[in-house]
Amino acid sequence: MTTLAYTAGPVDDSIMNVTVGAALRQAAAKWGDAEALVSRHQNIRLSWNDLDAAADEAARGLLALGVGRGDRIGIWSPTCAEWTILQFASARVGSILVNVNPAYRPSELLYALNKVGVRMVVTARQFKTSDYHAMVKEVRGDVPSLERVVALGVEKTDGPDDLLWSDLLALGATVPADALAQREAQLDTYDPINIQFTSGTTGNPKGATLTHHNVVNNGAAIAGVLGYTTADRVCIPVPLYHCFGMGIGNLGCVTTGATMVYPGESFEPVATLNTIVDEGITSIYGVPTMFISMLEAPEFALLDTKTLRTGIMAGAPCPVELMKRVVDEMHASEMTIAYGMTETSPVSTATRRSDGLDVRCTTVGTALPNVELKVVSPDTGETVAVGEKGELCSKGYIVMPGYWEDDAATRAAIDADGWMHTGDLAVMDDNGYCNIVGRAKDMLIRGGENIYPREIEEVLFQHPAVAGVQVFGVPDAKMGEEVAAWISLREGAAEPSEDELRTFCRERLAHFKVPRYWKFVADFPMTVTGKVQKFKMREAAVEDWNLQDATNIVTA
Ligand code: AMP
Repeated sequence: MTTLAYTAGPVDDSIMNVTVGAALRQAAAKWGDAEALVSRHQNIRLSWNDLDAAADEAARGLLALGVGRGDRIGIWSPTCAEWTILQFASARVGSILVNVNPAYRPSELLYALNKVGVRMVVTARQFKTSDYHAMVKEVRGDVPSLERVVALGVEKTDGPDDLLWSDLLALGATVPADALAQREAQLDTYDPINIQFTSGTTGNPKGATLTHHNVVNNGAAIAGVLGYTTADRVCIPVPLYHCFGMGIGNLGCVTTGATMVYPGESFEPVATLNTIVDEGITSIYGVPTMFISMLEAPEFALLDTKTLRTGIMAGAPCPVELMKRVVDEMHASEMTIAYGMTETSPVSTATRRSDGLDVRCTTVGTALPNVELKVVSPDTGETVAVGEKGELCSKGYIVMPGYWEDDAATRAAIDADGWMHTGDLAVMDDNGYCNIVGRAKDMLIRGGENIYPREIEEVLFQHPAVAGVQVFGVPDAKMGEEVAAWISLREGAAEPSEDELRTFCRERLAHFKVPRYWKFVADFPMTVTGKVQKFKMREAAVEDWNLQDATNIVTA
């Protein structure tokens, strides 16, 4: 008899019915003056009591500004302590924190703010080449829902009702603690509290909407997998705007008393390595590219990361050899791989510390507690046999309620039985362990950032010389994948230079989406029914640009 590719994690009583705000209150009651959050680049160290008080102060400030339950509050900033304080504050007033990618250009910001009707944005001043104040100014006239901008730091934006973060906190002092307690008493753990943009399996960015219940429980589940206690110190170089940072990073710590440590505004290999050493880090999170950069840094040989015990590699296919090096050379003997997606809060599978090294390096693990998994045929929807390839589906408390105000997209992703169709192709073995073997969705992942070719294609179509464009991922040893574009030109149009097209994209798209490889072609490989065959372009690209070595990398 064939065994079907279905597995269920252990059903246990670990599911909690607490809000994000209450989880922090409980943490403060249990671990008071122990260190909760370290933001190295800001020189900030907060105890659980400090963090709890800071979140209360900001929450009362939000109440003073009339922020209601369900209102959308944007946060546009690289990693900082205020990001996390706002995460807890907005959850305490029951508003919905909208994570805006720090690399967005104005057109992407405009789309995101309008998509979910943001009322207020908290923004950093600048980051790398991004002048946030200038970009907010450029778009705000076209965002009818946006009433106010709150600026982190000392420089205000120029709207009549705009404030500084310090003004928000000062306003909070005028609101009695009772008012906040009353608001918190009205909240339900199934209320949405967070929106993160993702394109799901198709089309334009959609707002994946997550509840207290989704993220608190997933954070706690991962903390359980990694065996966190108050002795753990978790280095979080992954961005807070993603569930990897704010979810299993921040909330994994809040539910167990481990310390959140931010090594910098954004990932830098040497700053992260120094943080591991200086802060006695026991657990490290990262996408594969981050681990490659750390191992490649010349400083790595000089530093001893012996305090590392565990951690998570996730977010993109994880090379087997890389995992082995993280275990051997970084000394993270209990390192795990996790797999998931924003829509599932995010983690659905993980390897376990008790698994043999081979299983931990060569698979993405098996279902978390209280999560079900199956692999289905993309053609029939039937569950395939173990060992057979199909689309991975997951089910349980992890699944988001839906995409923000987009029922059709929600129904396309989550079926009537509650299964999230991930768009990832997987093979499950007899013990329920999975390998990710491909994607059924038109997406690529460059250094952990998801990229949807269609978004880039739509931008390039606007260029006057471009008649046709196909964007796809090609293998890359360090980034996992790089973006390639094939372009066909309009009759009589002069061939633009690659640099011209790059600049055209850079003005309209976050830097990580700008294609690295370009080719001008007369036409594209098509099936007889006229469907473009990106896999053929990828094969040709491997030859054109000599990418064979990267093609042979084995992943979990
Ligand atoms: P995101 O919504 O940004 O979390 O991206 C989710 C996508 O990242 C998944 O649908 C997968 O394609 C990919 N992904 C996440 N974790 C892994 C992993 N461990 N191995 C392979 N792909 C992964």
